[in-house]
Amino acid sequence: MRMRALLMVGENRLEMADIAIPERPANWALVRVRASALGLFHQQMAAGMIDTGGLPRILGHEVVGEIVEADSPATPPPGSLVVADAVVGCGVCEWCVRGSESICPWMRHLGIDLDGGFADYALVPESNVFPLAADTPLDEAVMLSSALPAAVHGMRRSGVGAGTRMVLSGVGSIGFTVCQVARAMGATKIVAADVAADHLAAVAPWADATVDVSGLSPAESAEALREALGAPHGADLAFEASGHPSSVDTVLHAARPGGTVLLMGIVHGSATLHFDDFLFDCIKRELNIIATFGFTRADFLLGNALYESGALDLRPLIGPTVPLEGVPEALAAIAADGTGGKRQIVQVAGD
Ligand SMILES: [Zn+2]
Repeated sequence: MRMRALLMVGENRLEMADIAIPERPANWALVRVRASALGLFHQQMAAGMIDTGGLPRILGHEVVGEIVEADSPATPPPGSLVVADAVVGCGVCEWCVRGSESICPWMRHLGIDLDGGFADYALVPESNVFPLAADTPLDEAVMLSSALPAAVHGMRRSGVGAGTRMVLSGVGSIGFTVCQVARAMGATKIVAADVAADHLAAVAPWADATVDVSGLSPAESAEALREALGAPHGADLAFEASGHPSSVDTVLHAARPGGTVLLMGIVHGSATLHFDDFLFDCIKRELNIIATFGFTRADFLLGNALYESGALDLRPLIGPTVPLEGVPEALAAIAADGTGGKRQIVQVAGD
């Protein structure tokens, strides 16, 4: 049995190939891929910025498809539509036992250092496939594979609950999803901040207020957020999802004494920090500072349940659809022009 696969064979060199369908190890499921996704991370992968653990590699860390074959009776039956969790923990270590496989020291990842979804078939550990309703639109299903579980993971770590008053700094695709998940998990007041008017417009239906912080210092931004929140002493939860150093400063200022600061955006670039001042400020206000990275299988259970309940609308995240063979061209366009905050859908199966 053969399949089409888009192989990464070198930096910015992706080639369509006809290869054998991989042999299925015990307790892995063979999945016929229906759809995958494309975004900035895939462009960085293709450019060789992230270790693929050898070449050739099939990229595509979002996998939505149908079960072909598996071993466990707990796996959805053949033909079932599933979304895959691409994070493959070792399953043995202390962190995997605790259900924290995204910080497993031996963690591997479909579409990064294991073959992923840019092929007709993919191998996925049976414990990493989650069933979806058969009529789930494929473009929405793709959003359930990374954007949603990442948001759910952050919100679970934040301790959000009924009555939480929250500020959210950075509302790109992840921040947008965080806002909806926070609402579904009980946050009663959410103020969203960004410097991009289109991001703020997209999230506005899900937030109580939006604040354009263009040109404001972190202290000014934090004051504007507290004012919009109607909480002069600050937010119960201040969530950083932009990855800008000044935004980290903003959320630290925006949290109330005893509140929680959650750091999700990965900061690139340098910042000046007077560490003793920073530490004293955090200590005297008893801030809870929490970081979140990736997601775990448990996040799929909650994320998929929220999606199926109708509490979320992920459609604004969906960008154009490209066929598998159109991926190299689409990646070049992303390198030149960015993604506009959208995930492109890679249509793999023709029907
Ligand atoms: Zn492990």
